[in-house]
Amino acid sequence: MHRSNVINFSAGPAALPTAVLERCQADILNWQGTGVSALEMGHRTDEFAEMADKIRENTAKLLDMPPQYEVLFLPGGASMQAAAVPMNLCQAADHAQYMISGHWSRKAADVASSYVDVKKKDIILDAQKITVLPTSEWSFDPHARYCHITNNETISGIRLETPSSCPVPLVADMSSCLMSAPIDVSAYQLIYACAQKNLGPSGVTMVIVDTHSLPEAQKITPPVINYALQSAQNSLVNTPPVFPIYVCGLMFEWIIEQGGLRVMQTRNAEKSALLYDFIDDSRLYQNHITKAARSPMNVTFTLPAEDLTHAFVQEATSAGMLGLRGHRAQGGIRVSLYNAIEKTQVERLLNFMQDFEIKQRAASIGS
Ligand SMILES: *Cc1c(COP(=O)(O)O)cnc(C)c1O
Repeated sequence: MHRSNVINFSAGPAALPTAVLERCQADILNWQGTGVSALEMGHRTDEFAEMADKIRENTAKLLDMPPQYEVLFLPGGASMQAAAVPMNLCQAADHAQYMISGHWSRKAADVASSYVDVKKKDIILDAQKITVLPTSEWSFDPHARYCHITNNETISGIRLETPSSCPVPLVADMSSCLMSAPIDVSAYQLIYACAQKNLGPSGVTMVIVDTHSLPEAQKITPPVINYALQSAQNSLVNTPPVFPIYVCGLMFEWIIEQGGLRVMQTRNAEKSALLYDFIDDSRLYQNHITKAARSPMNVTFTLPAEDLTHAFVQEATSAGMLGLRGHRAQGGIRVSLYNAIEKTQVERLLNFMQDFEIKQRAASIGS
């Protein structure tokens, strides 16, 4: 199939803008006239240093980042940060609070429990019609070393608001929402996000951390995930994922060219509203999350029977719409609408969904 006929709705690694990929294509043979491929670029070269500085600068600009924060590029995905956070922010005898809103927050808490005493707090009020406790009603533990939240639960499609105040340092897994809308960085001590959702390809994780308030890391912390050390060495403690970092850089330039994070937010809100409104009007498709907690990034829905879900995925795939099968832990359908997905692509999906529904109705009348 030709690229222009395919829409990649995958949750990650996710779609990248064609304009970004075309630049990669040229740079893979000859990066900016150096005669060296972007895949061969040395991490100790002046060119890499210059590029990394530019990416840090663009990150700060896009996120309106206060000066005490630093951007780190680390290996190991978001999953590695689930361990790195407790290792760097507290000692094993301390305790930390984890707000549990779904799969990824639970997983982060489970991983962290090897390195800190984890106190979990469930913030889902009703699991059937998924309702999230509003942040204004969260009870924070003032003695915790930090409180960990997952702003966008990628698997179920739940969005959390940033709490307006928190008595302890707030740590956020923003893997599937960073750079999709403006955020208030100063509300957090630390933000981490793997790249393969809104930022670029898999292989690098961005950590944005207030380095002025970092305590001493636990002795067992490996150097590559030691924030203070990585900060002191410009994320070059070992060979960093050079190519994924480079692609993130192109992606940030693309976001700036498009008009920045407010434009991303408006587009993402429009795309998801189209889909949620359609689902709410449909008799075949159902979303189970209360409106206030619905994610603009990952829209989930179910069909009334497993064989229908299967047929939906198969027919969508034949029509060039890929990555729609829900996560294996949840089932159903999931449509991921990250920055690179265009409104016209969502409209194409809606046409397909409408045709599929009409066909089902006709079949059920006929039988
Ligand atoms: C994708 C994702 C992860 C896992 O990321 P890896 O890079 O595979 O470790 C963790 N948290 C959230 C919210 C995610 O969306």
